[in-house]
Amino acid sequence: MMALKKKRTIIIKDPQLREVRTNLRRVIKSACRAEQAKIHDRRDILRKEEERTSMKNEGTYDYEKYRRLNKELTEQYWAIEDPLRASILECPVCFKSDKDMTYNPVRKIWYCIECYEKLRKGNIKRGTPEEFP
Ligand SMILES: [Zn+2]
Repeated sequence: MMALKKKRTIIIKDPQLREVRTNLRRVIKSACRAEQAKIHDRRDILRKEEERTSMKNEGTYDYEKYRRLNKELTEQYWAIEDPLRASILECPVCFKSDKDMTYNPVRKIWYCIECYEKLRKGNIKRGTPEEFP
């Protein structure tokens, strides 16, 4: 996903459009979760196979092979999770998907308008306003 350089807020007022937007976000999120569930299943299968193999033939058991496959599955999981967490699909603080969102160009993450405002005020208090423009 392309990172924006400026703070940006997207507000939709029309209730029907809001509903379409929320549904679309949920569909995309659930497609991502389904993909992650498949990765989780593959990891389970791999772990069971590794247990079986390591017990049966300790001499030829290939630890490196399982370590590499496991690492690949972990990378596949995060290739979905990282962009999802930074995306406009849900607020990473309140986890709601039906909100208008503001993009933080410093953190490169979208937050709902309410959470953004709370975080912005907290950063001003702590003396780090540059974190939340
Ligand atoms: Zn929020």
